[in-house]
Amino acid sequence: MGVVMEVPKEGEESVSYICIKCGETIPYRHIATSPEIKCPNCGYRVLKKMRPPVVKVVKAR
Ligand SMILES: [Zn+2]
Repeated sequence: MGVVMEVPKEGEESVSYICIKCGETIPYRHIATSPEIKCPNCGYRVLKKMRPPVVKVVKAR
């Protein structure tokens, strides 16, 4: 018997959640370490998953 630990994949680290009730942004790290998924601000349990916008850096010549 062994202990299986879930390690978040590298891409999921940048995923964050938004509470649809109060708009609080909850980082994935907080979700991963919490026993249940809910907003730390208001306690609402419906969170919207969102990825941060990809910022493209374009160098002008
Ligand atoms: Zn909330």
